[in-house]
Amino acid sequence: MRLEVNRSYGKICRVYEKEYMKKTTKRGLIKKIDKIVSEHVRARGSCARCGKGAEQVTLQCAHIFSRRNMSVRFDEENCLSLCFACHFHWAHREPILFTEFVKNYLGEERFSQLMMKSTMIKKWSLYDLQQYLDELTTRRGKKAGYGLAGSIH
Ligand SMILES: [Zn+2]
Repeated sequence: MRLEVNRSYGKICRVYEKEYMKKTTKRGLIKKIDKIVSEHVRARGSCARCGKGAEQVTLQCAHIFSRRNMSVRFDEENCLSLCFACHFHWAHREPILFTEFVKNYLGEERFSQLMMKSTMIKKWSLYDLQQYLDELTTRRGKKAGYGLAGSIH
């Protein structure tokens, strides 16, 4: 009898484990981290190019080096808070002007450091991603305690 109970308990554990693993995929974690990074960047409150505030325009998190570069994907230095118009009708359409803008915005030194970092190969394991997400969540929790969470959307 006891053995039977234990056996079914083991079965339940395995079912939960499977469900947990299904939800905790690398892609799922990347999505969650992207969302938090985007919130942080948009919380800067205005468009880095035209200066319009969050009350006038919808701000977006624009990546300087593409999100394909996993070494800088979650790096806030690699992100700009841009309004939709500046993001899609300018940054994506005028790559040369955008590059010039970014160099001015960051300064030559920070720009070249970021460029160096973007060329590195970064492989995030499931564990790395989970750790990083936990770290961001903890940091966000602390910030929320100071009443900053309300400005993030
Ligand atoms: Zn703008």
